[in-house]
Amino acid sequence: MASAMTDPDLIARYDGRLPRYTSYPTAPHFHGGVGAAEYAEWLSALPPEAAISLYLHVPFCDRLCLYCGCHTTVAHHERPKRLYAQALAREIGLLANALGRKALVTQIHWGGGTPTALPGDCLEGLMNLIRERFRVAPGAEIAIEIDPAALPAEKLDALAGMGLTRASLGVQDFEERVQKTIGRMQSFDETLDAAIMLRKLGVRSINLDLIYGLPHQTEASVVHTARQALELEPDRAAVFGYAHVPWMKKHQALIPEAALPVGAARLQQEAAIRKVLAEEGGLVPVGLDHYARPEDEMAKAAQTGKLQRGFQGYTTDLAPVLIGLGASAIGALPQGYVQNQPNIPAYEAVVAQGHFPVSRGIVLRDEDRLRRAVIERIMCDLAVDIPAMARAFGAGEQVLLADAAPLSGFAEDGLVDWDGRRVTVTERGRPFVRNVAALFDAYLRQADNTKPCHASAV
Ligand code: SF4
Repeated sequence: MASAMTDPDLIARYDGRLPRYTSYPTAPHFHGGVGAAEYAEWLSALPPEAAISLYLHVPFCDRLCLYCGCHTTVAHHERPKRLYAQALAREIGLLANALGRKALVTQIHWGGGTPTALPGDCLEGLMNLIRERFRVAPGAEIAIEIDPAALPAEKLDALAGMGLTRASLGVQDFEERVQKTIGRMQSFDETLDAAIMLRKLGVRSINLDLIYGLPHQTEASVVHTARQALELEPDRAAVFGYAHVPWMKKHQALIPEAALPVGAARLQQEAAIRKVLAEEGGLVPVGLDHYARPEDEMAKAAQTGKLQRGFQGYTTDLAPVLIGLGASAIGALPQGYVQNQPNIPAYEAVVAQGHFPVSRGIVLRDEDRLRRAVIERIMCDLAVDIPAMARAFGAGEQVLLADAAPLSGFAEDGLVDWDGRRVTVTERGRPFVRNVAALFDAYLRQADNTKPCHASAV
């Protein structure tokens, strides 16, 4: 059987616009029927011993990379950033008051945007406030996303005071032609310096983000970038396919579409990076797009079926509650998902009035929980036993097995092993794991698929 990368018919059949399944139901299905009142009720119903994870979103950057799919804005002045930090502090206070106790926090993730766009004293002040209002577990993971080109020396003291344990450095690609086209100039030395400085601050784990499918990338160029990335001795790496969605992210329209690799070329780039990271770097592939040192807890979680999938991609975080703080941040609670107001002034205004800035969300039904578990195991373990999962949720298996009917065709194409009960994604099928997961997405079938809202599956 030909490799998936060299079979254009296969790519044509399975290429479509599919979610990345960082949640189920996925964010496009959140709605305005869930708001601040529901969120407050959900928080007050949490068991006192429930551990929580915090995600703090900082929607500012010093530059706008043309490929960016994040919720962010370019801000050069300090005032809007300080106002935003005040709003974050207010939201932290609202949360602590609603919980009515010093809840146990096992993970804190600063994302964006560029978290270090906030003034250093704001970053430190917010961390101190979190430690004051919550019980941060000894050994809690405190992670931050770093733009190596936006790490001025005066921020280092603040970062040192935050007790960071993990940093995620955006690399994407080291080739100058690619960097110029995507508006993100960043030398290898700059990135190396950032990694060295962060390690000196006590950050014990460095993650690198790489992207394939960017304009002008070739198989040879991504191999070169991956080899340079290994020189930084990362503990983890994440390799994402560029999602070209200019109808949602207007600045992406400035990327010349003719320079974008498509279909088989994207798959070949992904496979080439994978080979370098795994075979030359000794990193263990984790799920669809992550890599970790064999001794890293993420690699261990993947081997023991404990890997989780959340809004930041793969994670080892087992906390049953994720609280999103900041404009556009998403929270995941046992009762459902909530998303904050994405507009920064509107977010700040609502918080200033003493209300949770939730603008939409979704209540989880029993069927959603079962389908979410099936999709999460496919995305994390690349395998799931459907009747066993249905039993674990006290549900019948018939509906899921009916959804699984197309797997016979997937098996004929060599993408999965399927015995009518358990599906395992094969190595050939690994790039198509989202196609397998999507079979169990009841919302996708109901969606108006004439409106593109997801990125290409391949
Ligand atoms: S630094 Fe990151 S978040 Fe900011 S524009 Fe670039 S890719 Fe987007």
